[in-house]
Amino acid sequence: MSERNIIAIHDVGSRGLAMPVPAPAERVGAVQHDRLGRVLHDLRISVTDRCNFRCSYCMPKEVFDKNHRFLPQQQLLTFEEITRVARLFVELGVRKIRLTGGEPLLRRHIEDLVAQLAALRTPEGEGLDLTLTTNGSLLARKALALRQAGLRRVTVSLDAMDDAIFRRMNDVDFPVAAVLDGIEAAREAGLGPIKVNMVVKRGSNDHEILPMVRHFRERYSGAVVLRFIEYMDVGATNGWRMDEVLPSDEVRRRIDAEYPLVPLEAAQPGETAQRWAFADGRGEVGFISSVTQAFCGDCNRIRLSTEGQLFTCLFAERGHDLRSLLREAQPDGQRCSDGQLAAAIGRLWAGRSDRYSELRAQLASTAGRGTRRVEMSYIGG
Ligand code: SAM
Ligand code: SF4
Ligand code: SF4
Repeated sequence: MSERNIIAIHDVGSRGLAMPVPAPAERVGAVQHDRLGRVLHDLRISVTDRCNFRCSYCMPKEVFDKNHRFLPQQQLLTFEEITRVARLFVELGVRKIRLTGGEPLLRRHIEDLVAQLAALRTPEGEGLDLTLTTNGSLLARKALALRQAGLRRVTVSLDAMDDAIFRRMNDVDFPVAAVLDGIEAAREAGLGPIKVNMVVKRGSNDHEILPMVRHFRERYSGAVVLRFIEYMDVGATNGWRMDEVLPSDEVRRRIDAEYPLVPLEAAQPGETAQRWAFADGRGEVGFISSVTQAFCGDCNRIRLSTEGQLFTCLFAERGHDLRSLLREAQPDGQRCSDGQLAAAIGRLWAGRSDRYSELRAQLASTAGRGTRRVEMSYIGG
């Protein structure tokens, strides 16, 4: 079956799998382990499925064109709904929240959501590690307001230093200088440490690896951490091919040849990036190698889609319809209480056994993993 024949999930109008409604008295513990013993820690919230870029590896122009139907406003979770869900997740052990999309800065008044999430407290009274991933196009305009609303740090995606290559990668002719201005504004606003993510696609931008390293080392020393992401087979539309993946080991060798690197310990369990420091002390780089070195073993992440579906894996074929539990009256005529929602989420995590990246090789050799795949722009990276 060709990749192009696979149906992207949000095109088929799926509401996701029904989540059973727990009895009002059902309670869940504060620490949630899934079936593989992984503890829930990290919630990624997609706030819009729209984007002003058309990166070929994520929202190829020929698929996400003027005929593509994005979600109508009333189907999106409201900020109040998102904050309610996030508060329950914090009760269940989540300590890190990342806002993403689509392009999260396109969601109107996003700083109001940031302010609501920044006010959440852990049972120990601490704030959350609250961050956001953006393509940087609107960051120069919004960095200060985001910081004032309580955002702690940002991750900016940037795939090349060369303007022509960057314009080709984003496929909407967006200039690299505007993203660099956004990074500068984020630093001035105190949104640090800033991470910059570069998706490496062999033959498209791999010769930009060293110019990127050079720029961020020289300009920011350790204040900006550059991370290289292996091009992933996420979604159904990007026409992914293994021969376009440049393995992280190869990226690291190329950098090491010019700027010697030494390995660093992971800062936290479940960290997606392998960290390496420049031997001369001028900062570090990270490698996110979901294709060549799966890191499912300690994956502590769950994703909430723009329209309120929960995905227990980036590569899941179906989401779980939390929005119905939030919005609709249940058979007893009542809406779900916070306790019931928390119990439903806790049950979902307890039943989780996803480890797609570890199984990728096997699945690839057994006629694929089905015909429906969720898009990255829909559930967020
Ligand atoms: N629009 C924002 C951005 O680009 O930062 C946030 C959403 S984007 C889906 C989140 C991250 O996923 C970005 O860093 C992007 O580069 C990455 N990404 C998207 N498609 C990918 C793919 N096929 N392989 C690897 N990373 C991908
Ligand atoms: Fe948009 Fe981000 Fe996807 Fe690029 S990676 S198309 S910026 S959502
Ligand atoms: Fe986590 Fe799924 Fe990625 Fe494995 S493939 S690391 S389980 S999101």
